[in-house]
Amino acid sequence: MALYRLIYVSQAIAGLEYRDLIEILQKSEFNNRRAGVTGMLSFGDSMFLQVLEGSRRAICETYNRILLDPRHTHAELIDFSEIDHRDFAIWSMKVLQLSNQEEVRNIILKYSHTETFSPISMTGLQSLNFLREITELYHKGAMDQ
Ligand code: FAD
Repeated sequence: MALYRLIYVSQAIAGLEYRDLIEILQKSEFNNRRAGVTGMLSFGDSMFLQVLEGSRRAICETYNRILLDPRHTHAELIDFSEIDHRDFAIWSMKVLQLSNQEEVRNIILKYSHTETFSPISMTGLQSLNFLREITELYHKGAMDQ
């Protein structure tokens, strides 16, 4: 079956709290596992950057639900592509919070104009490579969470 990847960016509402992230993560893990969706959600400087992988129908249904969520606004699609394999297969969903840690800021700067996390200005490839490198840093155990 064909596989697809969707990447979008959005802005968190003011006052979003840590427990909101936990709630989003728990709901996403449950729903995505059932739908065969995998991916990652990065959060920093009030911005979300999320990648979703799976069948076209599962991704579209998930994304359509996410767009209705009042906990974020100004969602913009960055990439929707056919892929031959998943990059985030081990996670039905994972939330990684971007801290001010030097290694994290260096990865942000590598793909951005400044050290401020502004995924809205990233291309599809930049955002994918950014998510891959942040994931790699996490797997090395070198990321503050
Ligand atoms: P329910 O949990 O029963 O929710 C019903 C409705 O209430 C939905 O419209 C929901 O948006 C809204 N709602 C639920 N909790 C709250 C709350 N605390 N505050 C305000 N409104 C609320 N869901 C996924 O399944 N997969 C994902 O990968 C995923 N990623 C997300 C990424 C971001 C940045 C955000 C903000 C949300 C994400 N969600 C994700 C959550 C998604 O938006 C829906 O809330 C969820 O999928 C609805 O699940 P449900 O159909 O079981 O309905």
